[in-house]
Amino acid sequence: MIHMYCTECPNECYLSVEGNQENLEIRGHKCPNGLKFAREEVTCPKRVLTSTVFFRDEDNEGLLPVRTDRPVPLSRQEELMGIINQICVQHSVKRGDVIVRGIGGLEADLIASASI
Ligand code: SF4
Repeated sequence: MIHMYCTECPNECYLSVEGNQENLEIRGHKCPNGLKFAREEVTCPKRVLTSTVFFRDEDNEGLLPVRTDRPVPLSRQEELMGIINQICVQHSVKRGDVIVRGIGGLEADLIASASI
């Protein structure tokens, strides 16, 4: 049996998950979102990926904090880091600007977490 807290809302229900991928028994959820959350955690866990990319313009150079605008599969994060490590931003950006649209072919965009 696996235990986890549902992080879909502030209630943070304590979930118990038993069984296999085809037949999961989930308990402790107060709404259907908990079922979806637990199923995803067991079959394809996702997290928002945070990192930094290089930036360089005429006056400055350094690191720009970035993140995906939605959770991405943990199984893809090493591959996505390979893409992120190749990026060098060469113009000013505002927090929330898209740095890479659909990173790695996913629906998630890589966005700036700060302005430079
Ligand atoms: S199961 Fe529903 S009520 Fe409970 S934390 Fe998840 S989203 Fe919130």
